[in-house]
Amino acid sequence: MSEEKNKKSEAALLKEKLFRSRKSGCVRVSAEEIRMADDYCEEYKNFLNKAKNEREAVAYAIDAAKKAGFTEYDRKKTYAAGDRVYVNNRGKALMLAVIGKKGTHDGVRLGIAHIDSPRLDLKPNPVYESNDLAMFKTHYYGGIKKYQWPTVPLALHGVIALRDGSTVDVTVGEEESEPCFCVTDLLPHLAVEQMSQVMTKAFNGEHLNVLVGSRPFNTDEESESVKLNVLNILFEKYGITEDDFLSADLNMVPAFKARDLGFDRSMIGAYGHDDRVCAYPALTAVIDAKDPEQTIITVLTDREEIGSDGNTGMKSTYLADFIADLAASDGEQLRHVMAKSTCLSADVNAAFDPTYASAFEANNSSYINGGAVITKYTGSGGKYSTSDASAEYMAYIRRVLDEKKVLWQTGELGKVDGGGGGTIAKFVANLNADVVDLGVPVLSMHAPMEVVSKLDVYMTYRALYEFYLY
Ligand code: MN
Ligand code: MN
Repeated sequence: MSEEKNKKSEAALLKEKLFRSRKSGCVRVSAEEIRMADDYCEEYKNFLNKAKNEREAVAYAIDAAKKAGFTEYDRKKTYAAGDRVYVNNRGKALMLAVIGKKGTHDGVRLGIAHIDSPRLDLKPNPVYESNDLAMFKTHYYGGIKKYQWPTVPLALHGVIALRDGSTVDVTVGEEESEPCFCVTDLLPHLAVEQMSQVMTKAFNGEHLNVLVGSRPFNTDEESESVKLNVLNILFEKYGITEDDFLSADLNMVPAFKARDLGFDRSMIGAYGHDDRVCAYPALTAVIDAKDPEQTIITVLTDREEIGSDGNTGMKSTYLADFIADLAASDGEQLRHVMAKSTCLSADVNAAFDPTYASAFEANNSSYINGGAVITKYTGSGGKYSTSDASAEYMAYIRRVLDEKKVLWQTGELGKVDGGGGGTIAKFVANLNADVVDLGVPVLSMHAPMEVVSKLDVYMTYRALYEFYLY
């Protein structure tokens, strides 16, 4: 090759200086970083398999935190820089903090992800029998496309609280040796009418009935004998009766395990990436971040998928109350701490999908392997119902990520007026902290199997870790 041909044109050099890079993240990071991303995601897959609802995620996180020296927070104790504490909110939300050298005096650094995912919850009175089949009635949780949930193997997860105050943990359907469940669908041969309906009519919430049994208790001529047999099996295994479903949190979730996806194993297909794919990075970042300047807090919150209402969601006062306690022990007041606090709302964004390209605006979409995606605002319509991060805070986050060589990209949630959605960012902003969304781009978001890139998961971990220690 001649010397001339090797030389870049003036325009090419100027483009490099002025344009944002459009290259895949895979060619912008080292082979070593890709290897580290692959390694990091091995335990992430295990986390996905062990933590399919918020309670299981909290249990996993407490276990990991205890091994890393975290102890349960006691507001009467005084803590020193470097101390590691956690607060368990009803087994469904968790806060993990490392006390900073400056405590709360200059504000705290927050990383907040949610650990609930769309699924089918059992109704309070779920069990019924119809035409010799035993079924569970469900009420879907979060935003789902209902047609995606029939004919997917389902597992039952959750907890049943008995009248005497004891609780029974339930997991059925995860092991090969255990039975699974499913929602049935109509065969195509008889679906002429169904197929001509709009999707929301063809599959509505009352179609999402889960098949759980088909054999009668015995040969006695009794009605509802299949239902009786199912309840008898549950009584023998868990000691529960039909009334106990009323005091239970039971979820039907996809029964399959997280898998590497693609010949190159560059991605992971699994249930519940949204938002465990940010919760795991937020958990490991707070565990790995040693000796922060400001107090850092990872929050694994609940109820995001249904609008964050409830005592374990981000509309609850539980986070502000904890920060108020930390502030009080530093002689500070909550409002002064919040005004100086910064937050990464760690949540997913929709990755550009070439099959559905028309739903996206290509210049402002996030891409698989583009790295952690910063989403300045979410919401819908004319930027309704969202926190729009300030120019100054965006510049600060860019500086942190660029200085620490974290691969990142920007994204909006689809094209203007294409729909919309929200995250917990606005609730943190309403506490008068600076906040922006940062997380992992996801394909098939809210489907029984969602897809993410391993490189993007790792970069989200690195973003949170560097943010905590910057
Ligand atoms: Mn989410
Ligand atoms: Mn979601």
